Amino acid sequence: MSNTDKNSNPSHSGVRTETFACVWCGLTVAAAAPDGRRRNHCPSCLHSRHVHDHVEDGPSECQARMAPISIAVLRNGDWKVIHRCTRCDELTANRVHGDDNQLILMRLAVRPLAQPPFPLEVFGDL
Ligand SMILES: [Zn+2]
Ligand SMILES: [Zn+2]
Repeated sequence: MSNTDKNSNPSHSGVRTETFACVWCGLTVAAAAPDGRRRNHCPSCLHSRHVHDHVEDGPSECQARMAPISIAVLRNGDWKVIHRCTRCDELTANRVHGDDNQLILMRLAVRPLAQPPFPLEVFGDL
């Protein structure tokens, strides 16, 4: 029998092993994104949960589902997902992570162009 020495276990530090279940699709999500930052929305369906009160800057009692409704582009080119709470209508902006569902991100980004609130024909006359 060989005596294997396994003292070099990777350290389990808080957020790296923390997970949460997506309120929308049920996916088990690691709370830490690949870039090490904390994740607050599901990378698959991009839904989130209203756990932070941005007015009081503390934990929120709402806990309702937050749906991704739009994309915001920051000055440095980074994208943020705009979430709206399905219960209290609060809006939040959240960082996009490298493994977020790109199809859904693109769908959110082009939605206003696909559904303009005015007829596009007017541009044909310019
Ligand atoms: Zn999900
Ligand atoms: Zn809410």
